[in-house]
Amino acid sequence: MYDALVVGGGPAGLLAAVYLARFRRSVALLDAGQSRIARIPQSHNYPGFGDGVSGAAVRDMLREQVGRYPVDRIDGFAEHVERREEGGFRLHMRSRALDVDGRLLLLATGVTDIPPPMPHLREALEAGLLRYCPVCDAYEVIGQAVGVYSDGEAGIGEALYLRHFSADITLFMASGGQALSPPQRRRLADAGIRWNDAPIEAIRREGGRVAVVHAGGTAWCDTLYCALGVAVHSRMAESLGAALDATGYVEVDAHHATAVPGLYAAGDVCTGLNQIAVALGGAAIAASAMHRALPPDWPR
Ligand SMILES: Cc1cc2nc3c(=O)[nH]c(=O)nc-3n(C[C@H](O)[C@H](O)[C@H](O)COP(=O)(O)OP(=O)(O)OC[C@H]3O[C@@H](n4cnc5c(N)ncnc54)[C@H](O)[C@@H]3O)c2cc1C
Repeated sequence: MYDALVVGGGPAGLLAAVYLARFRRSVALLDAGQSRIARIPQSHNYPGFGDGVSGAAVRDMLREQVGRYPVDRIDGFAEHVERREEGGFRLHMRSRALDVDGRLLLLATGVTDIPPPMPHLREALEAGLLRYCPVCDAYEVIGQAVGVYSDGEAGIGEALYLRHFSADITLFMASGGQALSPPQRRRLADAGIRWNDAPIEAIRREGGRVAVVHAGGTAWCDTLYCALGVAVHSRMAESLGAALDATGYVEVDAHHATAVPGLYAAGDVCTGLNQIAVALGGAAIAASAMHRALPPDWPR
């Protein structure tokens, strides 16, 4: 029986494990190894790295820090969670005959970006041709020809957001711009944003640019933001009865506690502001609240 179970080994889960271990709490950190941070070629808004730092380097530093403390790291996917009759939580691991029990549970399970239909996604991300997060890297595309790929209202919002950074913005609606309402067209036109009327047939990398092919021809951009949204990994929270917002984010209070006693959440899984700094701050707050919620353990 651990004091705390942490599901998710991205920045939120890793830092929460460090805090909890330093609070002298027994911790198991369960991770399926699919952190979004590993997909960041270079972050320029991570604190303390003015020249930028890769997501993998940040993850490795945090993993090394966790390794200095007695945290039990369990690799694999936590498939299912239940409340124990005696109190606390029990996690069942997928494809392993292993159950893990803990008094408190922190979900730091993150989100997954819904990808565009484009070959060689990883290479496109690496090269900065494909992007998911204007908050992260719109500064890097100032003045470029920027495309936004979407199939709904979110694309309009993202195109308008990016207009602050470039005069050359095109919204590529997956099923064509026919579905745009007159007010939506007006908003885009007023902001000087173009859109395509024909459905998108293919997106591919050609040289150092992105070619977006539709019935009307091929459009080119220097970088393409995908605004198809994210899948929030909040299934376990929901199964325990925690409240989710309309997007699926887990609702938490100022201490990162959910309405389910003993259940906490931090990182992308509980906020639309998907940022490492936010994930780290949430982890610190959640871990501190979890420590306070556990009984004291006075050294003798
Ligand atoms: C291309 C790209 C660029 C980005 N650039 C920046 C940037 O420049 N600056 C910035 O601040 N942010 C950036 N971000 C966002 C940043 O990566 C996230 O905000 C951050 O990784 C969130 O951390 P997290 O710990 O909440 O979730 P994650 O890092 O996604 O980690 C979640 C972990 O939980 C695991 N998990 C999920 N479910 C289970 C389960 N049931 N059992 C076991 N494990 C599970 C996953 O496998 C994963 O390892 C970028 C993201 C992307 C995709």
